[in-house]
Amino acid sequence: MLPHSSTDVRGTLYIVATPIGNLEDFSNRAQDVLKKVSHIAAEDTRHTKKLLNHFGIENRLFALHDHNERDKATYIETLLAKGDDVALVSDAGTPLISDPGYHVVSYLREKNFPVSPIPGPSAIIAALCASGLPTDKFFFQGFLPAKSNARKEVMESWKTQAGTVIFYESTHRIYDSVTDANLVFGDDAKLVLAREISKTFETFLQGSPSDILAKFDNDSNQMKGEFVVMLDLSVKENKDKNLAEQTRILKVLLEELPVKQAAQIAAQITGGKKNALYQLALTLV
Ligand code: SAM
Repeated sequence: MLPHSSTDVRGTLYIVATPIGNLEDFSNRAQDVLKKVSHIAAEDTRHTKKLLNHFGIENRLFALHDHNERDKATYIETLLAKGDDVALVSDAGTPLISDPGYHVVSYLREKNFPVSPIPGPSAIIAALCASGLPTDKFFFQGFLPAKSNARKEVMESWKTQAGTVIFYESTHRIYDSVTDANLVFGDDAKLVLAREISKTFETFLQGSPSDILAKFDNDSNQMKGEFVVMLDLSVKENKDKNLAEQTRILKVLLEELPVKQAAQIAAQITGGKKNALYQLALTLV
């Protein structure tokens, strides 16, 4: 048994994060756990075998995926009950995050078995921390529905969602998803796309949905690979707030000054564009 579970005769299930691209991100602790546990439950044993070979790790593997998770939960329970430690890994990143493992962990927690995370890469956190979008509050949607109507319905529901909205997307659907975001939000969304994080072609694209579509149209390589899509939907709210403030200031100035001068001073106070404020002032007199 590994040291973590020394006070418990039962084994521990370790949830082990693996690299999302760059193998150097595989922690020593994660490698150590994979060497020492008695079994490794893997989303795809062939995929995990390659990772283990790279690090010279030999251990017993069995498959745990969406279709056999419930059966494997009881199998893991049997192993833990006799004191064996088990590790759970997915193909990349943190298991359970848009990956198998939820039923196993909830089942074992319900039965009070020790479950311990071995933290490491996850695409969502890696993308968000480098996005420049608000990180104090965020909402993770996982993968969106494959059909456009269902996808747009989910996007509509984000209009009342606070914080940065994040979803995972594949190369096959990235163009269609950004097109739908353009239809639902127009320029009222700021998008940041994190592509191929920690790999050779790591790229961050940012702009309105239509800006991103133009970048795709210019260079189809920008649609290749794995994506984390992040949306800042406070753009419209901020625009509305600015407009309300500009209107208030202009109204005060227009009581004393001609339109042109009021617009000039309002531009200095608010940092807004002189011409836009002039046009706004015209609507107020
Ligand atoms: N469990 C993983 C995690 O913790 O990030 C996510 C697994 S999910 C099946 C795979 C999706 O994660 C990909 O389709 C992509 O949206 C995102 N992803 C994984 N690796 C990525 C990378 N290196 N760069 C950008 N997105 C990535």
